[in-house]
Amino acid sequence: MTYDPNNVFAKILRGEIPCNKVYEDEHVLAFHDINPQTPVHILVIPKGAYESFDDFSAKASDAEIAGFVRAVGKITRDQGLVADGYRILANTGRNAHQEVPHFHMHIFAGKDLGRMIKPANK
Ligand code: AMP
Repeated sequence: MTYDPNNVFAKILRGEIPCNKVYEDEHVLAFHDINPQTPVHILVIPKGAYESFDDFSAKASDAEIAGFVRAVGKITRDQGLVADGYRILANTGRNAHQEVPHFHMHIFAGKDLGRMIKPANK
């Protein structure tokens, strides 16, 4: 699968559509999800053209990967999310219902998020 440069996050990176920005640096842009699932719902995306976590983890440079991970941690600290806790999640591909084909990490916080998977739900 080749990267689709017309996906919505590519348009945000090019400034063609707006976002509610939380953080930006050399490698990363973070913004509030347009349809938040929790009181705090932030998306963190790399500036490079990677369609999924699989693509990013295989092809991004060490600097991009380190920069991305450092940025996620910094955002959670700067937003005051560490004390009560948060969840990070990256939907990857069809079975995970990834909707936007540009790698993004969700940060969910602001309430008790419950268990990720119900113990008996196999
Ligand atoms: P996923 O299902 O993991 O691909 O999640 C895509 C996320 O992108 C969803 O939570 C959407 O609400 C969010 N989203 C889609 N378009 C925008 C946008 N223009 N600005 C911010 N978030 C968006």
